[in-house]
Amino acid sequence: MSRLPRTLCVVCLIALVTGGCASRTGGAPGTTAPPPQAPPTGEAEASLLERRIAAHMRFLASDALNGRGSGTRDEWIAATYIGAQLAALGVEPMGDDGWFVQEVGVQRFKAATPPVLTAGDRTYTRNTAFLVGAVAAARVSGSLQHFVAGTPVSSGAAVILPADTPMTAMSSLSGAALVLRKATAAQAGNWAQLTAQASEWLSTQVVGTLPSPPSGPTVLTLDAATHEAIIAMADGTSLRLDTELVAGDRTRTWNVVGRLTGTDPSASAEAVILSAHLDHLGVRSVGGDVSDTIYNGADDDASGVVAVIELARVLAGGPRPRRPVVFALFGSEESGGFGARYFVDRPVVPLTDIVADLQVEMIGRPDPKVPAGTLWLTGYERSTLGPQLAARGARLVQDPHPDQRFFERSDNIRFARRGVVAHTVSSFGLHGEYHQPSDEFRHVNIPHMRDAIASLVEPVRWLATTTEKPSWIEGKKP
Ligand SMILES: [Zn+2]
Repeated sequence: MSRLPRTLCVVCLIALVTGGCASRTGGAPGTTAPPPQAPPTGEAEASLLERRIAAHMRFLASDALNGRGSGTRDEWIAATYIGAQLAALGVEPMGDDGWFVQEVGVQRFKAATPPVLTAGDRTYTRNTAFLVGAVAAARVSGSLQHFVAGTPVSSGAAVILPADTPMTAMSSLSGAALVLRKATAAQAGNWAQLTAQASEWLSTQVVGTLPSPPSGPTVLTLDAATHEAIIAMADGTSLRLDTELVAGDRTRTWNVVGRLTGTDPSASAEAVILSAHLDHLGVRSVGGDVSDTIYNGADDDASGVVAVIELARVLAGGPRPRRPVVFALFGSEESGGFGARYFVDRPVVPLTDIVADLQVEMIGRPDPKVPAGTLWLTGYERSTLGPQLAARGARLVQDPHPDQRFFERSDNIRFARRGVVAHTVSSFGLHGEYHQPSDEFRHVNIPHMRDAIASLVEPVRWLATTTEKPSWIEGKKP
């Protein structure tokens, strides 16, 4: 198979516009060619695809959807819209009641009494001496370790950060049980309001799934006096955070799941998952600012959802791939990955029958860190998938922001931790709109999205048609 030119692939554009094209992989056995049709040419194709992308984005990132807050009715409406799109494309529903939307229960827990931090022989109380947004367990404990940049953190340690530690240091603390940081000046100035507004919900469990081990440390923000007292204690001092958790509200979140059956029955246990997350941060006001309270999440991750819808259009409309392809849009990624957690515990196909998951996140504009027209793949060096897709023309390179640990920061990690080769495609260039109300449609670069999606068509079609299976590189499986 020849490498595709590293320019905008016209074949892919035609496929995206007409819903069909000759397969570059030679066609799947047993399929009939779509009826001949004069495809629109050049600019017409590009503008049709752009128009569809813009239409989806206008809806998903609209103020009308209130930022698709995790577990909100707005998220549910977004899920329903996506299900309707997949239905119109002829994708087979795999959600509840013969439809695409899959409801997931989320049990929330609160503290019966304020959580207490014990450090040596002293005790401190939540919302007085410290803030905590979520606890990994009813008791979280560790031995005190003073953070020193460049020195590895002991697994299960209670790490205290010096006052001036940059937030980027957090990426090296994933093995810690507890992380203690000093409140910023802004937080200190706002302490009364922050403690008054602190959520009563401290822990969640996805209903119907096994309790999962904590995916990161429990992070405490200390007031100045508490920080000063604990940082003066010796390394090795015992710290523990005790929370008497009691069940409270049971809430819901929504996934969207659909499938294209492959043409080859012998490949039915070789599913390819194409995924994105459909939720974002919803409506919130930070520090009393009410000028714009809607976190539209145009780039994060309406852009990925649109990519999955448009890839579904091509795969459903063109020669059917040999392997089954599952389209999965997850709810509540932003609030703990609940939708994906449910999916991997209650998969619509057994996890052992999945050859790869490709998540699409934040392709709404180019990343200046990589060459124009290029996307990057989180954990590129961990498996054969990135190089395999690149060899089939995907303009995919290594993630240029390894310090951000993006491989662990999207739904793909839920699959990867269960052994499935799973990565995220992105072109997020660390722009200032990340997780801000200004992540809006007006900042989306539609031609970039068009080229990004078009560039994935043939590589994804190859993945869904080949007999090759991507695998982890020795020692690189998470
Ligand atoms: Zn995201």
